[in-house]
Amino acid sequence: MLFDTHCHLDAAAFDPDRDAVWARAHRAGVEWLVNPAYDLPSCRRAIDLAGQHAHIYAAVGIHPNDCATFDSDLPALRALIGQPKVVAIGEIGLDYYWDKTAPAQQAAAFVAQLALAREFNLPVIVHCRDAYDDTLALLETHAQGLRVVLHAFAGRMEHAERALAQGWHIGIGGPVTYRKAENLREVAGAIPFEQLLLETDSPYLPPHPHRGRRNEPAHITLVAESVSQVRGVSFSRVADATTAAAMTFFGL
Ligand SMILES: [Zn+2]
Repeated sequence: MLFDTHCHLDAAAFDPDRDAVWARAHRAGVEWLVNPAYDLPSCRRAIDLAGQHAHIYAAVGIHPNDCATFDSDLPALRALIGQPKVVAIGEIGLDYYWDKTAPAQQAAAFVAQLALAREFNLPVIVHCRDAYDDTLALLETHAQGLRVVLHAFAGRMEHAERALAQGWHIGIGGPVTYRKAENLREVAGAIPFEQLLLETDSPYLPPHPHRGRRNEPAHITLVAESVSQVRGVSFSRVADATTAAAMTFFGL
């Protein structure tokens, strides 16, 4: 059984066939799914979706690209944290690729949400793009003792090692299957199983050979397959270990 720890099943891309997508994931062995959010409307959609399916859970948070109105969003966000099936804060972090909000503003929203995670004793799903050094520095200062996953990890081995040394988790998704992703496969082979989470980030980041199309949670089997090859262990060993790690991480 597999756990897709990061899937935007609430996305409009799934409006035509969401139930069929989830049924297909189920047939592929995906038993659990966490739907993260990026702004207040997606927080509410994630909570709604989780309310409809036994094994779908929600994460709530304001993404760095959507944090321009963070201060005015904060009271509503805080109120959503107590909703049923909210199991994490996310996705939050830093994104220097899309320059929609100033780095200082992103950092302020990130730090404020790390404090929320501590207050509510919830794990944190971290989005990081082109900002690993600053993200890790903020986490090392403000996330000591928290459960943290660096989702869709795309950093270097030294970044992975810094996160692992803190006991944090690393999320591996579709890019691990890409032909040129030798560095990422090396990271995926080095993460202790207890700190390794699998994800699809659907509808984004489709694994090979689905690149250029909509990703979906059933494709997590290709991620697990790639990780099993890198580590030289069976598919079921990867599935069991990463599902167990995810259950512990999300407190399920
Ligand atoms: Zn995401």
